[in-house]
Amino acid sequence: MVQNTKEKRAYVSEIFTSIQGEGLHVGKPYLFIRFAGCNLECHYCDTPRSRDKKYGKVLNLDQIICRIKRINHKIYKSVCLTGGEPLLYADFIVHLLPEIKKLGCQVSIETNGTLVKELKKVIHHLDILAVSIKPVSSGNRFSEKRYRDFLKTARFWLKLKKKGGYPSFFTKMIIDRETSESEVVKIARMLASVDKGIPLVLQPATSGKGVYKNRLIRLQLEATKYINDVRVIPQIHKILGIK
Ligand code: SF4
Repeated sequence: MVQNTKEKRAYVSEIFTSIQGEGLHVGKPYLFIRFAGCNLECHYCDTPRSRDKKYGKVLNLDQIICRIKRINHKIYKSVCLTGGEPLLYADFIVHLLPEIKKLGCQVSIETNGTLVKELKKVIHHLDILAVSIKPVSSGNRFSEKRYRDFLKTARFWLKLKKKGGYPSFFTKMIIDRETSESEVVKIARMLASVDKGIPLVLQPATSGKGVYKNRLIRLQLEATKYINDVRVIPQIHKILGIK
């Protein structure tokens, strides 16, 4: 049993194994813990049920660790905390992450990059951090300064840990027909102002409607004017029809 932590709980919408379908680690077997609840409202959200706590089940640390112990760790060596927005549960996660690592697993978080104070609480436990930056066309309004603070915090800690920095830490941006070229350039410039070595993944929205290949290539070329590593990677789990 995890000591003195049984009282700590979080809303979890699901725990499941699958293939990592997004970002720089696509294709690897992963165990996902999807937290319920989010502080944003993206119009293209592909996990709408995880946005609301009411669709989650309240689990404590022991219950989650018990579920993780049941999987084959020879295959599933990586655990990804996703959502919703997992950093809403930073006070819970700060206890969960060391317990997962004791099982020999690598830990990663997928976050919307808006909760800087919460990131500071957990970042020293992380192996991989994926930050999904939301432009205005996503339906949210966040200042560039907030993203810059978040990215600087992440960069500082991950370099300090000498984890290699990259690709342990990367950003992504969903591209749909609402996304303008100027938004992509703005985000690329903002990333460059923090560190032009931070990778950016341009991820066509799930439906792919209105995101034509020539447009994606043009956006990639534009962003590459400011930062070193810009990749176009679709969600492969959606293409394969798996979770
Ligand atoms: S941040 Fe993620 S979970 Fe939250 S609304 Fe946007 S896409 Fe959905």
